[in-house]
Amino acid sequence: MHDEMLAAVYYGPRDLRVEHRPIPKIGAHEALLRVITTGICGTDIRILHGQHGKYPPGTIRIPGHEIFGEIAQVGDAVRNYHAGQRVFLAPNTGCGKCVQCISGSNNLCAEYDAPGITYDGSFAEYVRVPTSAVLQGNIIDIGTTLDPGVAALIEPFACVLRGQDALQIKPGENILLIGAGPIGVMHLMLARFRGAGCVIVSELDSDRLEQAMHFGADRTVNPAEQDLASVVSETTKGAGADVVIVAAPAPKAQEAALELASIGGRINFFGGLPKDRPTITFNSNLVHYKELHVTGTAACSTKDCHRAAEIACSGRIDLSQVVTSSHPLHDANAAFTEAEAGKSLKVLIEP
Ligand SMILES: [Zn+2]
Ligand SMILES: [Zn+2]
Repeated sequence: MHDEMLAAVYYGPRDLRVEHRPIPKIGAHEALLRVITTGICGTDIRILHGQHGKYPPGTIRIPGHEIFGEIAQVGDAVRNYHAGQRVFLAPNTGCGKCVQCISGSNNLCAEYDAPGITYDGSFAEYVRVPTSAVLQGNIIDIGTTLDPGVAALIEPFACVLRGQDALQIKPGENILLIGAGPIGVMHLMLARFRGAGCVIVSELDSDRLEQAMHFGADRTVNPAEQDLASVVSETTKGAGADVVIVAAPAPKAQEAALELASIGGRINFFGGLPKDRPTITFNSNLVHYKELHVTGTAACSTKDCHRAAEIACSGRIDLSQVVTSSHPLHDANAAFTEAEAGKSLKVLIEP
């Protein structure tokens, strides 16, 4: 193996440089993955804009945490994995001993680590898998048949699973989904799979709105052109939505969710808000008198990733249509520009 690799490295806000880096050296309990496909997600866009808490000023790091690859090498002490396995890497590891970790929510551990977030990630030809990830079950063998594009979607799909677990959607319930980006359409497919009744999709981009119809939306609304509240009221016979999923980093959408939910409605604030504008204003009596359940979910646990991998491998939900394009690593900046434009769905990098 040669000793240099190509990588897209973050140097500061809007400064992503494609350059040569040494291939990471691994320790006895570690593994090295050759990255096959890796997705750009909203988190990466926040990172690129200098909006991520784990990227304080001065950070120089390779982003990328949605990782599918092949094991290139394992350390001398690694017994349960071998070179040549095609694997998906669940990103989050925790300390292993706090309440969050032992109850299966290692994504919420105060000391969590993740590639592309707290150490070098997958916008590179190779990524080092640290001891904690090797020992905590983060390397998930997905066999040789799964489409590499779909394999890169397992992590965001796991986040979607977690979001909907918090909502307990029952067959026939009306859903309002705000935001029809890659995450939004995965929510849409999963809600359909769970037996949702009418699904209303609200989205500002007309191309994405039209796409949402193909992914199973019953009703689409552009809130800039139509009054969302009237559409929800009309569609649900005045009751409001049983479930509202806010899959957009938009304060206004979060505020609207509380208005548009039915009595006893459940809401998930799936997307985080910009770091410098995290406050919303709402009528708290809506929560009180409607007995709303407002939930939030953030990222995904390793357990969520194992379930997501199983669903993706079973083909029961076809995630392949969520991928719109794929770029070589040296075009990483173009890939980011496309992901950020908000027109396409999932943009991948194939090192
Ligand atoms: Zn992600
Ligand atoms: Zn922990």
